[in-house]
Amino acid sequence: MGDRFPGEPCVLCAGVNHGVGEHVWPAWFLGEFTQEGPFTPHKNDVPLVRRDGSAATAPSLQGLHVPMCEACNNALSKFIELPAKAVVRRLLSVTGNSPLPDLSPAEIAGVVPWLLKVGLLMRHPLAQHDEPVMRPHQDSGALAPFYPGWTSWMNQGIAPPADFSVFVSRRSLVREADFDGARQGIVVPHVIVDGVDLRFMTAGFGFRGLDVTIVWHPGWAIEHPLVTAGRAARLWPSVMGPQLSQLPVVHPGEFRFIDAGGPMCASSAQFKAMTVLPLSVDRDPVAAFFGMGT
Ligand SMILES: [Zn+2]
Repeated sequence: MGDRFPGEPCVLCAGVNHGVGEHVWPAWFLGEFTQEGPFTPHKNDVPLVRRDGSAATAPSLQGLHVPMCEACNNALSKFIELPAKAVVRRLLSVTGNSPLPDLSPAEIAGVVPWLLKVGLLMRHPLAQHDEPVMRPHQDSGALAPFYPGWTSWMNQGIAPPADFSVFVSRRSLVREADFDGARQGIVVPHVIVDGVDLRFMTAGFGFRGLDVTIVWHPGWAIEHPLVTAGRAARLWPSVMGPQLSQLPVVHPGEFRFIDAGGPMCASSAQFKAMTVLPLSVDRDPVAAFFGMGT
């Protein structure tokens, strides 16, 4: 097999890429959808077309790769894919109105690293779609700086950092109408403390009835309104909210994390003061900071 990423470094250790690199969506995952093709990728509800004007339809769901060396690829298979595979298959077994399956603590611990792997590598600047019309990678976060600390644990066989939260909600399996109810959001600040960018970040993706949101928020707790209301669950760093089978369908337009604009610079003493209260719907951290009069 040829080198798909000639000259590109492994995204985890900067070693030499091996073959096609790492499947962000693993082959066994894409294989679960083979009976549901053909697939046409969409961008903002518009079907994507190839250069000759034909629809970019493919018989199977198309994947996404990042450059990775052989050693890291093997480590991810062992530490992340293997523990998650059976759990993800259970989550994929959902059909129609059937509830999501409840997961044991061990199953949650098995699937969280995989959800982080997919969500983080999807937005890696070196990620490349198998479907050419999806290049360059167009997700909004893709060109943002990528902090190695988000992924450096993945090839080590250790737990993800507790500075991540992983939230899940149930999504309708049928196409939803536009959301016309009350929208809620939490501002995820861009914080620089004593000159160090804390790299607050949010990333999301979904598959078959499950919406996954990842937030990197070191040192600042989050009060998620849907978790409080029993309508979403947190799987990491500790489990909060209802069992997955109890999650109601939530429209993806109802709640979102909002990336703040320009950075807010603070001393560590100021950061300590502003993080006494969690990030929440009712509180704009930037306004709260400037309201401190510092
Ligand atoms: Zn590597």
